[in-house]
Amino acid sequence: MAEQKRDYYEVLGVDKNADEAALKKAYRVLAKKYHPDMNPGDAEAEKKFKEASEAYAVLSDPEKRRQYDQYGHAAFEGGAGGGFGGFDFNSMDFSDIFGDIFGDFFGGGRRGGRSNGPMKGANIRTSVRITFEEAVFGVDKEIELTLKDECTTCHGSGARPGTSPETCSKCGGKGQVVFTQQSFFGTVRNVQTCPDCHGTGKVVKDKCPDCHGTGYIANKKKIQVSIPAGIDNGQSVRIRDKGEPGTNGGPRGDLLVEVIVGRHPIFQRQDTNIYSTVPLSFAVAALGGEVMIDTVDGKVIYDVKPGTQTDTKVRLKGKGVPSLRNKDVRGDHYVTLVVQVPDKLSREAKDLLKQFDELTGDTLNAVKQQTSSGSEEPKGKKRFRK
Ligand SMILES: [Zn+2]
Ligand SMILES: [Zn+2]
Repeated sequence: MAEQKRDYYEVLGVDKNADEAALKKAYRVLAKKYHPDMNPGDAEAEKKFKEASEAYAVLSDPEKRRQYDQYGHAAFEGGAGGGFGGFDFNSMDFSDIFGDIFGDFFGGGRRGGRSNGPMKGANIRTSVRITFEEAVFGVDKEIELTLKDECTTCHGSGARPGTSPETCSKCGGKGQVVFTQQSFFGTVRNVQTCPDCHGTGKVVKDKCPDCHGTGYIANKKKIQVSIPAGIDNGQSVRIRDKGEPGTNGGPRGDLLVEVIVGRHPIFQRQDTNIYSTVPLSFAVAALGGEVMIDTVDGKVIYDVKPGTQTDTKVRLKGKGVPSLRNKDVRGDHYVTLVVQVPDKLSREAKDLLKQFDELTGDTLNAVKQQTSSGSEEPKGKKRFRK
């Protein structure tokens, strides 16, 4: 560890202004060249692989890159740069990088194939129900989950204390078995995860009594989930290191909590906008006046203009849902004002409406009714009945 560390940009062979794509490309080339799977037993290659991985891990993270640009390696040594704390290469999460870099290279089959290196544990998926308002403003939820932890009796080996797992005789500890098959196309070599040791390369003869040889104990855990304002139905919150335990010293997987947002009796949502309809009495629509409108922030009073038609849309700016990226930026609330036609009228109200009708003469294309002695069918017109 005492030897001089090379400059990260130099390691990747890129210049200081390299963008994300250039970094990834450079790392991809090096990682393929020096990956331990490609160079079994080659310590020099492994060193180069680690060096490149570390350089990429730092430079591909904008915050770490900024620190590195300012302080160099000291930024992560907790020394001269001061105050940043150590940079722990081993605790870094490379799974995303490997997923990106090696997805096509290893045919996506990382989990089954490799056995000796540390492997990140699997992600766990669960879901949580929240209300419409909780999605708008964010909420902290506690969920209960059964998580596997390393067995403290055998420290994850699965072997009875005092004994240790033996090298798997089927695969010789490689975790993989190769078998050849004669096919129409010639000899085909198939590599499979060893069925005896399930890829671990080890078999437990004398099982740990506490975990029955699995190496894990299931524990019920309460986990706090901080759901950000603006989350939408079906989106997930990722909680690092709350997934399945890793193997061979690898980090835990993540917990992905899918959010299921309940329906609201009045509000609908699309992206960051909220929609609702508000009934308007005929009189207020005609004369104008104040109406109360429910929003996620509470009731607001809205001034209806005289002569407002039904289906008029009103925008309440900034009364929508906060953006997930920036909760200070909110969408709008669109209200559709729907004029209600009264269907139950008192005698007095009816008379007043008739008076109104005569007064305004505003009959549109209505057929004038004979109010006194029997109504006459207009000539040449058929009455349409349902
Ligand atoms: Zn155990
Ligand atoms: Zn095996």
